[in-house]
Amino acid sequence: MTIKNHVGADLCVGPTVLGRTRGSAPTFKFSLMHKDPSCGARAGVVHTAHGTFETPVFMPVGTQGTVKSLAPDDLEEAGAQIILANAYHLYIRPGIDTIKLANGLHAFMGWQRPILTDSGGYQVFSLARLRGISEEGVRFHSHFDGREIFLTPETVIEAEEHLGSDIAMMFDECPPHDAARAHVEEAVHRTVRWAERAKRVHRRKEQLLFGIVQGGRFKDLRVQSLEETVKIGFDGYAIGGVSVGEPKPLMEEIVRAVAPLLPEEKPRYLMGVGTPLDLLWAVEAGIDMFDCVNPTRYGRNGCAFTHSGKVVVRNAEYARDQAPLDETCSCYTCRTFSRSYLRHLFNCEELLAYRLVTLHNVSFFISLVQSARRAIVNGEFVPFKNHFLSEYDESSR
Ligand SMILES: [Zn+2]
Repeated sequence: MTIKNHVGADLCVGPTVLGRTRGSAPTFKFSLMHKDPSCGARAGVVHTAHGTFETPVFMPVGTQGTVKSLAPDDLEEAGAQIILANAYHLYIRPGIDTIKLANGLHAFMGWQRPILTDSGGYQVFSLARLRGISEEGVRFHSHFDGREIFLTPETVIEAEEHLGSDIAMMFDECPPHDAARAHVEEAVHRTVRWAERAKRVHRRKEQLLFGIVQGGRFKDLRVQSLEETVKIGFDGYAIGGVSVGEPKPLMEEIVRAVAPLLPEEKPRYLMGVGTPLDLLWAVEAGIDMFDCVNPTRYGRNGCAFTHSGKVVVRNAEYARDQAPLDETCSCYTCRTFSRSYLRHLFNCEELLAYRLVTLHNVSFFISLVQSARRAIVNGEFVPFKNHFLSEYDESSR
């Protein structure tokens, strides 16, 4: 395949066919289209059974099979090319059988573009009341109704295959950010063994399977996890166990160290990150895929992300402000409503408030990453990032 550098010269990096093949034609493909010669930033395209998506990409989070307050039409309006759902949550409610009955998650939730399902490793270790981790799997009480559940790498793959997502994440062990080294080391080794088991049982040809790199805050364990996971061979690779409470500079240091070591010809996914600024340094480090609850969580709490920083819509200073949330944003909310009206909706606790600000935030994150992609294609990523940073104020106002 061909990569254009910033002056349009071709750089040959060899074939980049991902996944398995059906007949002679490749079912899936990751095409790396451009690389920024001054940093690790890259632009590509991932082809899936439900269409293509361009990378870098931001995936809105639809944990329960819905991106909170947004209908699929809203997501299309926001420019979402792929969304994330969570196999753990769907396993608990409504149960995989119910979704199987609807012919899979796409039909169940009325979304026909690509879906990535997280395995729920992080949720099992953070939300559930753990009973015990063994080589076989994890026994825990559901965070919802307390019933006892036993998940293994095999049962999670089976669930994700029934959900019919386009990308399935393997089941991993995600220790707390401050876990002792011995604990993290044990989790790395177990996650590698679980990766082998996940790969062995995965049968759904039209579904990509991603491996997950663990290793917490220990760089050498991260590298070890990466090397062993890559040896098993997956369709893409994620960096997991970040943004789980560790100091931000440490997260950045780990991601900057690990990202360039991931195979160049496979998509790279940074799980659960982050803020607009995080997206930009991570793109610069060579990350292709992101998900984060920030746009939806902040949105329903009345906080909008804009090019100049976070705007707390409830604040009294916006009571008579006729401007949109962000003058440069072309989303439905910004095209149609003023800050004054949105503040009024929040003050009255009207349901529309949550939808409109969430729609703006999701649009903002998606369009930020799309703009970063355009800058990479034009060989202008670093100036683009510097311009964004010069206008963006991290504090809320
Ligand atoms: Zn907007």
